[in-house]
Amino acid sequence: MNEMFLLKMGEIVLKGLNRAAFEGKLHSNLSRRLKPYGKFKIRLLQSLVYVEPENDECDLDGAWEACGKVFGIISRSRSRGCEKSLDAIFAACCDYLGDDISMAKSFKVESKRADKRFPMTSIQISQEIGGRLAEAYPEVEVDVHNPDYTVYVEIREEKAFVHGPAEPGAGGLPVGVGGKTALLLSGGIDSPVAGYMMAKRGVELECIHFFSYPYTSERAREKVLDLASIMSRYCGRTTVHVVGFTKIQEAIRDNCPEEYFTLIMRRMMMRISEALAKKLGCMSLTTGESLGQVASQTMQAMMVTNAVCTLPVFRPVIGMDKEEIIVLARKIDTMETSILPYEDCCTVFTPRHPKTRPVLSEIEKAEAKLDIEALVAEAVENTEPVHIHGRR
Ligand code: ATP
Ligand code: MG
Repeated sequence: MNEMFLLKMGEIVLKGLNRAAFEGKLHSNLSRRLKPYGKFKIRLLQSLVYVEPENDECDLDGAWEACGKVFGIISRSRSRGCEKSLDAIFAACCDYLGDDISMAKSFKVESKRADKRFPMTSIQISQEIGGRLAEAYPEVEVDVHNPDYTVYVEIREEKAFVHGPAEPGAGGLPVGVGGKTALLLSGGIDSPVAGYMMAKRGVELECIHFFSYPYTSERAREKVLDLASIMSRYCGRTTVHVVGFTKIQEAIRDNCPEEYFTLIMRRMMMRISEALAKKLGCMSLTTGESLGQVASQTMQAMMVTNAVCTLPVFRPVIGMDKEEIIVLARKIDTMETSILPYEDCCTVFTPRHPKTRPVLSEIEKAEAKLDIEALVAEAVENTEPVHIHGRR
């Protein structure tokens, strides 16, 4: 039925010399995301991406939803392509948008003429099509200032397109243009949101998950893989590097003062994550920490956990309230999975009175009995990579 998607590129169009690389990424990300929904022709022209089904077997609704989660697209419309003549445009408006027009209280037509060879100005096109539609739908008022519904007509090089109001796209930059980060992914609410925010800025994710079998169950591990899979609808393909953490937690329990358990554990996580990050070509670490949320997320605590890293540590939800983080978790569909009640290794051996104002020299003393280098090397060595291919 000649329906296709027009996707408007966002910030990419401002990228000057890097633009070709950005567009290449957007193209390949879209192709990969649309693959499960059939064969589509994807073309980038000026500031638009044209997504056209190649046959009737394509699942347009599925593809439309998938397009809404691809970063680099600022807005999108489902549209009908037609011949570049007033008769064909009018017929397409009635056939494709007629139901929406007739349900509106008022409407207007807005036209854009990208093909300057077309013999009418955009104002003339709007007037002509608007006039014909007003006759065809006499019960709907014309209101050019504050219309209930807007009909868009675009005259492009090869075709004309008609569509209704655009829907928002995912925004951001295409995943892959901004390097890679190692996301410390727990089963909680915050770290998936942190990953989403990095991916939105064009960053590819390698996820790292620490688990402490048998203190944490197989189901807790599955939950994290599920979260990564849900995240992949926005963030693209990823791998969860599963790190066995039991031996380290037991070593901490047996050799370190209790009030420092959590901080020493977090320093171990950061050391292992940094080693893995470097191995995987990541230029930063990312966590879901939010300032003051729990004892290990005070500024002093972050200072001592950060002290073991040389890579930058990004914390995209640092200034957000829990409620704000939850809004995003719902939007990206991770919330329901995040709140499943499986334990995280952070809740194993939690101190009764954790230090909220730790001093670095004291922590260093408290962990002195651990053979840190060997523990880190062993954990990195035994890491299991689980590839997440996404789901529909
Ligand atoms: P989240 O909701 O992301 O679990 P949180 O509020 O529960 O965060 P913590 O449990 O203190 O806070 O963890 C802080 C951050 O440390 C997490 O956001 C995550 O980035 C990282 N982290 C915690 N536990 C793990 C784990 N088991 N594996 C990987 N990263 C973890
Ligand atoms: Mg947690």
